Amino acid sequence: MPRIAIVDNEKLKSIEQKLQIQKICPVNKTGQECIGIDPAGKLTIDEGLCTGCGLCVKPGNGAIQIINLPEEWNKKPVHRYGENRFCLYSLPAPSYGNVVGLVGINGVGKSTAIKVLARMIKPNLGDYEKEGNFDLLLDYFKGTEAQAFFQKLKEGKVKISYKPQQVELIPKSTKGKVRDLLKKVDEKNLFEKIVEELDLKNILDRELTQLSGGELQRVAIAASALKKANVYIFDEPTSYLDIKQRINISKFMKGLVDENTSVLLVEHDLIILDYMTEFIHIMYGTAGAYGVVSKAKPSKNGINTYLSGYIRDENMRFRPYEIKFLPRQPFVEKTNIELVCWDDLSKDLGDFKLKIDAGKLYKHRVIGVLGENGIGKTTFVKIIAGKLKTDKGNINQQLKVSYKPQYLEIEEDELVEFFLANAIAKYKTQLITPLHLEQTFTKMLSQLSGGELQRVMIAKCLSENAELYLLDEPSAYLDIEQRLALSKIVRDFVEQKGASILVVDHDLLFIDYISDDLMVFEGLPAKEGSAKGPFNMRQGMNRFLKHLQITLRKDIETHRPRINKVDSVLDREQKRKNEYYYAN
Ligand code: SF4
Repeated sequence: MPRIAIVDNEKLKSIEQKLQIQKICPVNKTGQECIGIDPAGKLTIDEGLCTGCGLCVKPGNGAIQIINLPEEWNKKPVHRYGENRFCLYSLPAPSYGNVVGLVGINGVGKSTAIKVLARMIKPNLGDYEKEGNFDLLLDYFKGTEAQAFFQKLKEGKVKISYKPQQVELIPKSTKGKVRDLLKKVDEKNLFEKIVEELDLKNILDRELTQLSGGELQRVAIAASALKKANVYIFDEPTSYLDIKQRINISKFMKGLVDENTSVLLVEHDLIILDYMTEFIHIMYGTAGAYGVVSKAKPSKNGINTYLSGYIRDENMRFRPYEIKFLPRQPFVEKTNIELVCWDDLSKDLGDFKLKIDAGKLYKHRVIGVLGENGIGKTTFVKIIAGKLKTDKGNINQQLKVSYKPQYLEIEEDELVEFFLANAIAKYKTQLITPLHLEQTFTKMLSQLSGGELQRVMIAKCLSENAELYLLDEPSAYLDIEQRLALSKIVRDFVEQKGASILVVDHDLLFIDYISDDLMVFEGLPAKEGSAKGPFNMRQGMNRFLKHLQITLRKDIETHRPRINKVDSVLDREQKRKNEYYYAN
């Protein structure tokens, strides 16, 4: 049976621990060196000798993974990062005339796969001691459709344009004004058109260093789209974007493809992935160990297959359970005890004005907050927390608020275990274990990945003593499974603590799944905002979706929300009835 052994030497603290692990191995006991320690003190595992008994895994304390692979994978990987490190087993295929998506959990190699296609990683077919070479793929995919693609790529007949995942790093490597950057890469002479389509007019004269995350994202997409290419690759193109911008980007992606052009993208927002792609590949495997790309499937079936955890035509169960969108369970102890109420309020902040309609929040509720970026959501919370005085109107009391901001900044670098000491002492079973934070304890905050830092900050925020919690964009950097798990963790926390939580997010599926009530922010970003609600979900969603002119339906098989195709029979029917939000 083919087998891979993954060792994270950073997690193995001492040479004594390594020697201890070495002693346990039954193959070592026979005198062979299955587990070795190299001259640099690194623990290594010989995959050829390993029998897969798994005895070294427990004392490895999360540092060792032994994975037995199905017999049919007794083949070389496309790429391996090094000895006992991550393996990628296949690649997605661009499809001309179509937008193709990649979906899967974090850590199974989605970014690695598209970086190989974008020629940013030279594939080594598992021979990590030699430098990789793109031509190796011609042999590897011999006799398949992919071979023709790689042949054309080699001959320069296919050109690739690539947008990286972490747009926040762009200002560190590229300096200058937005206009100059975009003009420089405008190989298609489409500057004006793309600036208009991506709503970049107002920021053309800004320095890249002055841009917000959402602005950087749109500039990065524009820069990629302005290049002449046949395959456009976008790694997470909707991070930092609000829902209106996500819908706009979806239309933009569809507009990029034609019979000679394809778009390939990685996306975690399931509603948007469904809306903007024609086909998807599922990526599965074990996070940090290996990843496999499924064959392409039409998006609707592909997403349903992904949720089911079983790829029938490949006879592959990649998750032991199915993800189901069951109706939201009301809290057992639903109370109607008022937490805070306010009159009509207003606040003038110079260029920006916010109006808040009179409203109230109840205890024991999750309140979703929807609205564009820059429209006053954070200002509203500061007012409720008494941190900002209003110009007009009163609030009946000041609440103690705990707040997780949208942009995660580390004020002082420290060990996660110390940073989360309070949460570990008070909420181990409610927060630490379900958020899988134990494995981050020995890392410094600055060493965490985006998804790990997000989960740490959520636990920190919820462990504070407060009457109202605000989670601003908690879904950022989390994959679909983590988002759904987070919904459950937050709702269980509210159930047990009787707290109320405001959740600001741009993932409609996540907001729909987690919220009891909804606040809607309307207006003109950076100019004027108007806060309305909380409404019940039907009223709030109807109001919000009507503003966007999109209608939602539920998938018959999985009950997941889907956006209706504009002008389809359902879309027209729901708009006629003024029912933009599906019936439960
Ligand atoms: Fe040795 Fe492999 Fe067993 Fe680990 S799983 S103890 S390396 S034989």
